[in-house]
This record gives sequence, structure tokens and C-alpha cells, in this order.
Amino acid sequence: MKFFLIIYSLVLFVLSIGSCMGQELNHKTIGKKALLQNDTAFVNIKAFSKDFVYDMKYATNDNFLKEKVYNCGECLLRLKTVNAIIKANTVFIKKGYRIKFFDCYRPLDIQKKMWSIVSNPKYVADPAKGSIHNRGGAVDITLVDLEGNEVDMGTTFDFFGEKASHNYMMLSKEVIENRKLLKKIMEGAGFVSFDSEWWHYNLKTALKDKVSNTKWDCVE
Ligand SMILES: [Zn+2]
Repeated sequence: MKFFLIIYSLVLFVLSIGSCMGQELNHKTIGKKALLQNDTAFVNIKAFSKDFVYDMKYATNDNFLKEKVYNCGECLLRLKTVNAIIKANTVFIKKGYRIKFFDCYRPLDIQKKMWSIVSNPKYVADPAKGSIHNRGGAVDITLVDLEGNEVDMGTTFDFFGEKASHNYMMLSKEVIENRKLLKKIMEGAGFVSFDSEWWHYNLKTALKDKVSNTKWDCVE
């Protein structure tokens, strides 16, 4: 009888391990399915690709506000934006380049913080309206070569002036070609350019998405 009890306990123990593992597997599968079904979910692009370069300017003082407004720089975007930009980056990699991010999704609280530093709609979007950055559909980017050197785009990121405009043509042939390349591939992947900022791209379908205040955790 004792022998059977031991066997019975052993069987229960093995079954319980199996069911725990099964649950973990299910959880992962459901998580992945949920993400695939909802392409407006906010995700960290690092979980989907290792092929991007990051220089998140608003997590440093090196930006036009001269103030760090993010605790840490992470690139969160809606899943559909991530899918589109991975598509663009794949084309750039074939041509010997990669996308470097300056800014991605920007929580509404951060937009308010930026507005309190510079309350001028010429430089910062009014948080009362919200921008496509607040909707998870805008990216500020440039191109780097495979060694990580930035290609010449004619101005720095967040340069305010006509020289940063796609319509400004008093630039070297190389700069115009670099901007054109960025624009062509980004448009092919579902983004639209913004006339006065060569670095800014909006996902076409992002306008109908809601402004969000989703936050990300910073590793201390
Ligand atoms: Zn932007």
C-alpha cells in the first residue's frame, strides 16, 4: 500500500511539473498571438530587431531644449510602426546603411514637460492637440553606414531653419541624394515625410490612433 502511495505521489509530482510547463508555454503563445492580432499595441522595438542604432536625444541634455526629459531612452512604438520600420531597415541594410533613432513614441506627460520648457508651436507640438509622436506613429531618424558613421544630411537633428526642409535645395548633391534615399525607402514602407524636418516620418495610418501616456520602465 505504501509503495502505491509513493508511486501515486510521484505521478502527481510529474504531472504538476508538466502542467506548469504547459501553462508557461500557453502564456507565451497567447502573448504572441495577442500582439499579432493587435498591431496598435505599444512594443519596444529592441524585442523585434537588433539591427537599429539608437541615439535618443531627449534622454540627454544634447537637444534643443537643453534638458533631459526622458529618464531613459527607449524606443517604443505601436507594433504596426515597428513592422513598417523594420521593412524599411531591411532595404537600407541591403544598401549598406542602417536606421539610427533620435526619438520614437513620446508619452503625453513628456510632451507637456517639453511644452512647459518651450511653449511655442513652431518648435514643440501643443499637448492639447498631441502629435504623431504621442500616438506611437512617428520616428525621428537618420542613416548610418555599417560602421555606425552618420551620413551627411546637411543639418543636425532638430535644426530649426529652412536648411532642414526637404524643399531646400542649396545643399551639396550628396546631401540631397542622402535625403532622397531616406525619403524614398521610408515612403515605400508606409511612412510620409514632413516638409520642414528631414528626420521626421509619420506612419500613414497613425493619425486615427489615440494620443497615449503609456510609460516604459527604466532599469536602475
Ligand atoms: Zn519628430
